[in-house]
Amino acid sequence: KLDAKALRYMTNEDFRVLTAVETGSRNHEIVPVTLITDIAKLRAGGVKKYLGDLAKRNLVSRMANAKYDGYRLTYGGYDYLALKTLSKRDSVVSVGNQIGVGKESDIYVVAGSDGNQCVLKLHRLGRLSFRNVKNKRDYLRRKQSPSWTYMSKLSAMKEYAFMQVLYEHGFPVPKPIDHNRHCVVMELIDAFPLRQIDDVKDPGKLYSELMDLIVRLAQHGLIHCDFNEFNILVGDDGKPILIDFPQMVSTSHPNAEEYFNRDVECIRVFFKRRFQYESYLYPKFRKDTKR
Ligand code: ADP
Repeated sequence: KLDAKALRYMTNEDFRVLTAVETGSRNHEIVPVTLITDIAKLRAGGVKKYLGDLAKRNLVSRMANAKYDGYRLTYGGYDYLALKTLSKRDSVVSVGNQIGVGKESDIYVVAGSDGNQCVLKLHRLGRLSFRNVKNKRDYLRRKQSPSWTYMSKLSAMKEYAFMQVLYEHGFPVPKPIDHNRHCVVMELIDAFPLRQIDDVKDPGKLYSELMDLIVRLAQHGLIHCDFNEFNILVGDDGKPILIDFPQMVSTSHPNAEEYFNRDVECIRVFFKRRFQYESYLYPKFRKDTKR
């Protein structure tokens, strides 16, 4: 859980020590206290006290390793560092309620620079079993097991980059606002996941808009790969908005056709089951995706 209060009770020294733990984690799974002291450039006695305080607030945790005394950054500590950066830039002024728990994220409503409401998405990749995540994510084809901070940060960077490109090309996605570490700040969409919608005015219209979206993505060289009722929000105006695209691939991927057809099939099956809507019209990979 995101501890917004922790933001307020942090001295400069606490912050310096916490940042030192993060810096040390680049090459130490458990960061030795001696290294933290060097990086923070504070008295050794002082550093021990600050580390103790940070550990009490769950921002770091002490790892009694046989070889040396060390600490590790926790989710809370990483959240804190990201929020501190985002609030310095005025992208997040205050944190509100949690509105969602995704498969691999926590979602909060936050206030942005001019008091407007935005969404803060904190990516949390270490939460699933590693085996599960490994198959899905191309960046995990590395020899050593990557840290959760690394995986979560990469996931947020990727989401932000895709969101920017899609938004700039006029695709219906939330407007990207800022990102830092494992966090993405984006526009708050006033709509519900298709999953929660039992009734739409014109299922045929929504169906063809969704199929058009799949085709238009492919015309831009992209396949969503997880195009389903969880990742599509539908507002009162009946327009779909795509909110999540963690595994998009290129249309030149060897399995592109299979992935494309699976996205299409997913929508067909859902519309049949939920709205008893069936159409013999649906896009096919080769024919419909040429520019
Ligand atoms: P995950 O990738 O972890 O599954 P999602 O990005 O799908 O997380 O978000 C989880 C839930 O949070 C969504 O089902 C939706 O209800 C809500 N949500 C996410 N982003 C937004 C947004 N920009 N505006 C409004 N609600 C959102």
